[in-house]
Amino acid sequence: MAKIQMKTPLVEMDGDEMTRIMWQMIKDDLICPFVDLKTEYYDLGLENREATKDQVTVDSANATKRLGVAVKCATITPNAQRVEEYHLSKMWKSPNGTIRAMLDGTVFRAPIVVRGIEPVVRNWKKPITIARHAYGDVYKNAEIRVPGPGKAELVFTAEDGTQTRELIHEFSGPGVIQGMHNLDDSISSFARSCFEYALATGQDLWFATKDTISKTYDHRFKDIFAEMYEAEYRERFEKAGITYFYTLIDDAVARVMKAEGGFIWACKNYDGDVMSDMLSSAFGSLAMMTSVLVSPHGYYEYEAAHGTVQRHYYKHLRGEETSTNSVATIFAWTGALRKRGELDSLPELVNFADALERATVDTIESGRMTGDLARITTIPSPIKLNTEDFILAVADQLRSELDQ
Ligand code: NAD
Repeated sequence: MAKIQMKTPLVEMDGDEMTRIMWQMIKDDLICPFVDLKTEYYDLGLENREATKDQVTVDSANATKRLGVAVKCATITPNAQRVEEYHLSKMWKSPNGTIRAMLDGTVFRAPIVVRGIEPVVRNWKKPITIARHAYGDVYKNAEIRVPGPGKAELVFTAEDGTQTRELIHEFSGPGVIQGMHNLDDSISSFARSCFEYALATGQDLWFATKDTISKTYDHRFKDIFAEMYEAEYRERFEKAGITYFYTLIDDAVARVMKAEGGFIWACKNYDGDVMSDMLSSAFGSLAMMTSVLVSPHGYYEYEAAHGTVQRHYYKHLRGEETSTNSVATIFAWTGALRKRGELDSLPELVNFADALERATVDTIESGRMTGDLARITTIPSPIKLNTEDFILAVADQLRSELDQ
């Protein structure tokens, strides 16, 4: 069978630990035998981020702006323990944070729904897609550890030198302070991505903040969404038979637990970070969640929603067998290949992405799966496969689907 040719390369962002091992297997066994894979490769593994003083992360984001579509492996966000483990000269920032800030997009995360992996919330019948605002707030904060008594103030100095001040706290002892920001432009493009994605997928859109407590900051988010909805989207939503619904974040959480699913839940950056992990584990497994960063300028970055699966990697290093779920990483590749196929008018690449997703789902539904799923599936007597054997089983399934 002739390999499918690509026109434009994907931006390939390699990563760390167990996901880096699976990354190579997915390329070797599931993609390269069928596609003449073209990528511009950036090694975002922590060793290379250290060697390049994190320049490689910035370069990979710039490449995404140039080429349009990227696929990213999970990467370590260094903490104190990692600084020691990898002998880092600095606690480099989260690559995802850096990339999101440069592309200014919205992250959409949706569970991969498979027969035999039932959500723990019984009333969830359809996927719930989380749209996470990918700019600012606590991810772009400034923090100070307050050593002792003193006064903390928020000061804004305008270009003409005028200052606006707000007292944060009069400290009588040690503590901590934090400054955060967001931008009207970024909030607007977040709102626009959400409204457009809701129309494109025909799903209702929910949005929630804590504007009763945060009367200026969160309220700005609420107002921007409401103004844009009234001015540009109300009519189109009504015509499409979908709704835009705003509520408080605590009310949204309560309603989500009782809902049937099938809608997009737009979340501020931190809410999206936390709630997407809750949703993915409640839908089955963190490893069954897709994630795509959609920027209003038309850039797309696909990845798995989970991390580097550190615990399995240490097992792997000790020579022990692992059973790590590669489904979300496979879907990161299929998402990127499909988008590349759509942009470059290559229907055979789009069909390949569809076939690989089908083969992955069919493999699980036939009872062959990794340990995380074997523990929770309703399929009787599932076969638990190790990391590599699962990928090879998908490859077999893919071959037979492509032959048909
Ligand atoms: P993790 O997602 O790697 O693992 C969390 C838990 O879920 C673990 O118990 C793990 O066993 C399970 N799990 C996750 N993915 C799995 C899979 N594919 N198959 C089977 N089980 C799976 O998160 P963590 O342990 O908190 O973090 C490990 C590293 O990943 C950290 O260094 C962190 O900085 C990084 N991280 C990166 C990203 C990213 O690049 N997008 C996201 C989150 C965490």
